[in-house]
This record gives sequence, C-alpha cells and structure tokens, in this order.
Amino acid sequence: MKITILGAGIGGMSCAALLAKNGLDVSVIEQSTSFGGKAGCIEENGFKFDTGPCLMTYPEWFDELFKSCGKNPREYFTFKKLNTVTRYFDNGKVVDVKGNINDTANAFQKALKLDADLFLDYMAKWNNIYKISEKIFLLDDLNFDTRFLKEAVKWMSSNGISNIYKSMSSYNCVLNNSFAEKIMNRFATYTGSSPFKTPAFMNQISVVEMINGAYYPDDGIYSLPAAINKLCVDLGVKFKYNTKITRIEQSKNVMKIHCEKDIFSSNTLVSNIDYHLTQSLLGRKTNFKKLKLSSSGIVFYWGIKNNSKNLSLHNIIFSEDYQNEFESIFEKKIIPEDPTIFINITSKMDPHHAPEHFENWFVMINTPPNFEIVNSKNIKKLKEIIIRKIKINTGINISQSIVFEKILTPKTLHNDTGSIFGSIYGQNQNSFLSILKRKGNQDKHQKNLYYVGGTVHPGGGMPLALRSGINVANKIIN
Ligand SMILES: Cc1cc2nc3c(=O)[nH]c(=O)nc-3n(C[C@H](O)[C@H](O)[C@H](O)COP(=O)(O)OP(=O)(O)OC[C@H]3O[C@@H](n4cnc5c(N)ncnc54)[C@H](O)[C@@H]3O)c2cc1C
Repeated sequence: MKITILGAGIGGMSCAALLAKNGLDVSVIEQSTSFGGKAGCIEENGFKFDTGPCLMTYPEWFDELFKSCGKNPREYFTFKKLNTVTRYFDNGKVVDVKGNINDTANAFQKALKLDADLFLDYMAKWNNIYKISEKIFLLDDLNFDTRFLKEAVKWMSSNGISNIYKSMSSYNCVLNNSFAEKIMNRFATYTGSSPFKTPAFMNQISVVEMINGAYYPDDGIYSLPAAINKLCVDLGVKFKYNTKITRIEQSKNVMKIHCEKDIFSSNTLVSNIDYHLTQSLLGRKTNFKKLKLSSSGIVFYWGIKNNSKNLSLHNIIFSEDYQNEFESIFEKKIIPEDPTIFINITSKMDPHHAPEHFENWFVMINTPPNFEIVNSKNIKKLKEIIIRKIKINTGINISQSIVFEKILTPKTLHNDTGSIFGSIYGQNQNSFLSILKRKGNQDKHQKNLYYVGGTVHPGGGMPLALRSGINVANKIIN
C-alpha cells in the first residue's frame, strides 16, 4: 500500500517512520528545503538557534517511537533532565521552577512566601487528574466507547463539576500569591490560549513539566526532528522537498496530490499540514476569519555579546498586568504594550551554539494570529520595550550588544510552515466547547485521509504532535 504524508513536521515524520517499519511504501512531500516545520533551526554567522520549541517533555514518548521501530533511541538522540527548568522574574522578585516538585515548593516558600504544603497539595490534585486524562485524552485516538465513558466519569468526579467551568486564573486564586498564580496561569499559553478564559482543568498541563520533568536534548531541540528524520531515512521513507502542495483531489480509492510542478497519487493520505489549510487544499469551504485561533508570536533571534550570568537556559519576565496582556492578544487583537518575555539561551548548555564571548538569545513574546499587526515601526518600538524590560528586571543592558538578528513574525510563520495567520497551535482552547471540538485524526467523509500534528487531536506542542503521528500510524496498521 502506498501512503503519502503531507508535511515533514514532527507529527508527519513520526507517523511515516512507524508506517515504514510496518512494511508500507511511505513518501513525505514537504514545501521547504528541509524537515522540522515549526521545530526548525537557523545556523548563521557562528550562531545556532532553534526556531520554535525550546523545552522537551515526555522523553519516553520519543523513545517509544524509536523502540516501536526496532531501534535504540540512544543511537539517535540523547538528553539531560534539567535541574532548573525556568527562571521567573516579576516586579523585582526572582524564583526558579526546579526539576523536582519538592525543590520548587521550597523555592516558592523561600522567594514568594507561598506555603510549601499548600503548593504541594495543589500539585497533587492536578497530578491525580492528569493521570486519568493521559489515559483517555492523550495516549490513543478518541474513542467514545465504554472504557472512555468509565474513565470520563472518574475524571469528572476528580475534577469537581464546578471547577471544570471556572477559568484557570480564577481557580488559581487558591494559591493567594500573585507571582505563583502568574507562573501557574502561564501554562495556558502552552496551548496558545488565555488563562483568563481556558477552563481550570487545563491546570493539569503544569504536571508534565513540574512533576514529570523537563529535558534538554543535547545540541538543542532541533536534534529531535533530526533524529526522527534519520529514523525515517533508515527505514526507507522517501522525502520530496521543495514541493508545495496546491490542491488535493479526492476520489474513492486514490487521492491525487497536485503540487506546483507535479501530480502524485496515493491510496492513503496523512496530512501534517495545519488542519484548516488542508481543508482549503481539499477545496472545502472554510471561513478563516471566523476561526478562534490560538496565539502567534514574534521571536527575535539575537546574537548577543554578553555573558548573562544571572539568566538561566529558560527565563520569563512577566508583564505587570497579565490580564491586560491576554485581553490585548485575544480581544483587542494587538501586540501587548507590556508583553511577557521568554528568553531561551542554549549556548549555556551547548557553548558551540555561539562564538566565544557571545550568546544566542531566542526572545519571544505572544501576539494575536494576525499579519497586519506587524510593521517596521512597531517592531522597533517592541525591541525598545523588550530591551528596557530586560534591563529593569535582570540588570543586563543589551542595547549595544546585539550583533546578529533575525525575526519571526505571524506572517513568516504562516508562509514558512503553513500555520493559518501564524497561529501556533490551531484553534485556541479558550472555552470548554473549543476543547471538545478539537479536530480528530480521521476525515469524516474520506476514510483514507488522516490528520496528524499540533492542530488536531491530542493537541499542540512537539510531544502531542509526535503522539498524533504514533496514534494515526497504529490506527492505519491495525
Ligand atoms: C515560536 C514557537 C515556539 C514553540 N514553543 C514550543 C515549546 O516550547 N514546546 C513545544 O512542545 N512546542 C512548542 N511549539 C509548538 C511546536 O513547534 C509544534 O506544535 C510542533 O512542532 C508542530 O508539529 P507538527 O507535526 O504539527 O508540524 P509543523 O511543524 O506544523 O509542520 C508542518 C509541515 O508541513 C509543511 N507544509 C505546510 N503547508 C504545506 C504545503 N502546502 N505543501 C507542502 N508542505 C507544507 C510545512 O512546511 C511544515 O514543514 C512552538 C512553536 C513555535 C512556532
């Protein structure tokens, strides 16, 4: 059987590898010159940057893919558990989230005066809920069978019915500590959503990083897509790069894939392209303006002449008014005046990611998924705001230290990876309904058409995109 995968992102490649291992003839068609999609890489002027994801979680799922393909994952990639996951700055205070939940609770008690037992009880509750959710919402395709219903009842009773409808931020008031609440509320952004809208049960996202642990793949995040790509090549998957798909023609047994220069046909298709873009390639009507999309972002890839001793690998400088920031993104649809800033510096782990005496700073803010908001005037203003905030909060003045710069905007993200309006995670999860309405992995009308990646079930982010690839491959094989 001939299977074609559209897009060489994490989801598409993980699906391709597992299908090829099971004897299927698999080809991947990709518009770019290389693989990885949003998890790309820039190597220029002695600096190396991961273009998108910065944090690795669920290493066991990555290992599962390689083991299911009969390979030793350690021959493809290696990683370290982080002792300090993220350093947070807010209003003159600094605190580290550590790789161990007891250490984090102690750090919160010391720096934020938050009772360690209160925080550990809070995390224990979400850990219990997460364990049930993982079984029914993540590890498999969504099947509304008796097993699902049994687990769902258990899940709802452990959540508490009233808590399900509360927003994440209103639930997190139980911590009664504004800095800690901001840290916990930030996990809504892992789905590109607002903590002031997304339901409280999304708090369980924090368990993945704070209890299960966060990791750094040696040589940076790009080593993960590179490892999956090598796995694919070793198993005989064929890659066709520089090939943009312009239309997909459906017929019962064979699907035709129209590209700029060629037409390919395939018995089965797996689309790793943004779900809504795939619908438009299929000629199905989609009102893009009506979609409630997840956030986008602006990233500055800066080569910096500095040695930022008081910064860690991952750093967050919070905006003073967190609620106002999310209102700007989701209601006013503008770049926030006072954005929360994320800084990732991999040269702290891999010094060869920058020349000697320099560092590679990935500096990101969240924005609405909208092309029109970005122009050279507001990029200049944004840079000034970011540089000022970094100086006030960390004491580091980089105004004269930027020697290299590249910028990612919603528009470049849309053009380079096909994410609609630069939205990173597909539809946002700002309501209970939007979570239930997340797109599934098999087309309702065309049974030989499947969907993988961060815009469909089980969700956005590298590990979930990988999970969708594994789940869909298993479905096709079975
Ligand atoms: C700035 C940023 C920060 C992020 N931070 C994190 C993080 O810290 N942790 C985390 O886990 N995740 C993070 N993510 C999200 C993560 O990168 C994605 O969820 C994940 O990589 C998506 O994988 P995917 O399988 O959906 O494929 P994608 O990466 O979306 O790849 C889709 C592929 O399809 C190709 N394609 C699209 N249209 C066409 C076409 N017409 N013809 C041919 N090919 C096409 C694209 O070129 C691309 O290669 C971040 C993303 C960004 C952008």
